[in-house]
Amino acid sequence: MASLFGKKDSFPFKTVDPVNGLDGTQREESLNDPYEFGRISPTFCVLPFTHLATYTDGSAILCCVAKNENKLNLNDQSLQAAWNSDYLKSARLKMLKGEKVSACAHCYAEEKNGYRSHRITENRVWKERFGREFVLDRVHRTHEDGTLNEDIVAIDLRLGNTCNLQCVMCRPQDSSRWTALAKRIAATAETAEVRSEWAHKSQINQSRFEWYKDPSFWESLETMLPNMREIIVGGGEPMLLDETRKLVEACVRTGAAKNIQIRYHTNGTLLDKSLFPLWKEFKLVEVFISLDCWGEKNNYMRYPANWDAIAANLKCLDEESPESVKVMLLCSVHMMNMFYLADYAQWIEDQNFKKVTKGFNGYFHPGVVHYPPYLSIQNYPAELKKLVTEKLLAFEERSKKKSNKIQGIINLMNEADHSARLSQTRDYIRRLDTERGTSFAKTFPELNEYLKVY
Ligand code: SF4
Repeated sequence: MASLFGKKDSFPFKTVDPVNGLDGTQREESLNDPYEFGRISPTFCVLPFTHLATYTDGSAILCCVAKNENKLNLNDQSLQAAWNSDYLKSARLKMLKGEKVSACAHCYAEEKNGYRSHRITENRVWKERFGREFVLDRVHRTHEDGTLNEDIVAIDLRLGNTCNLQCVMCRPQDSSRWTALAKRIAATAETAEVRSEWAHKSQINQSRFEWYKDPSFWESLETMLPNMREIIVGGGEPMLLDETRKLVEACVRTGAAKNIQIRYHTNGTLLDKSLFPLWKEFKLVEVFISLDCWGEKNNYMRYPANWDAIAANLKCLDEESPESVKVMLLCSVHMMNMFYLADYAQWIEDQNFKKVTKGFNGYFHPGVVHYPPYLSIQNYPAELKKLVTEKLLAFEERSKKKSNKIQGIINLMNEADHSARLSQTRDYIRRLDTERGTSFAKTFPELNEYLKVY
């Protein structure tokens, strides 16, 4: 059987020309993928050959941005079975043939609009971190039917929905703390849109979110640790789980940690300093902390967070964590914090952190919230959009560190006018305040003037 670049005998396609590409047609290096794998095929993505992602309910998916459109679930099958399932095999083959995979529509849409997609980013990251040969070797070892009898070397684990917070943009699928409140909002909201949204979100089968407690899952993962290169742990809140610590201990015990980059996605409320000696053993530890603002405003948006605890954890990570640790702030951008984003960036700058956010471009990594729609920044009234735009541009002008992300957020906010949704926003916020005993007007007095929630 012919193989790509003539190295292994399992690759099923006859064209082996590394200059002109898999299908033999002239292909510019820069076409679609400037990081060389565009020659394999214009839809090639390294992830189905190296990586598997899970969702909180045990679903196994291609990556964190891929659509969850298949029936793979770790409640029902092993990690190995998911890895060489018909779904994964078919995705690999399609990518090798240059066909599109429907789950990857998000990447293709971004590329069509001129953005750097997750696919392009991951292809670059894998080439830079592990080398072109590493990736090509995986391709060569792929069998005619798409089977890849090699270990998963990168895994993104969303370990159930156990969480201590009830963030405003979240839902029961991602936080167990939302389960009861979601039902109450579905029953009491004034607007049909908010009722319907929460009725839908309330429908979860909690038993499906316990998949990660099965010892056989951890046993099979442990067999893969010698070849593992990247582990991402999220939830829910991964710092709440004994299983997360046991995974770290297993990486150290087996000697695998030195080859592994591990990344936590945490809300910053919990930090176990006794992890520090274990973290020292890893190639790299990334602690990504989701904070949407500072102080009381973050406590409201990520209810019922305790800012004093978060501030102490930030200080501890900044001053005491091992050299192998990098700390990044992630910020979900929505209606409640867009108004304060420039102040938040200024607050970060004023902290003069030694380690937190260092080595990353910008103050925080923004993720724009599109759902629920009534939290979208496009709902701001025109005068508020103008004011926020001016505030952010003024901050950019005077800031020490330029962020290439701020202009993108401004553009997105101004791209469409959805201020007609404001009645839903007000309804949702009033429901939150009634149920939780919080006060939007006291926590966000300036924003309340514009949004007229009260
Ligand atoms: S093409 Fe995009 S969505 Fe598909 S696996 Fe790669 S990064 Fe994920």
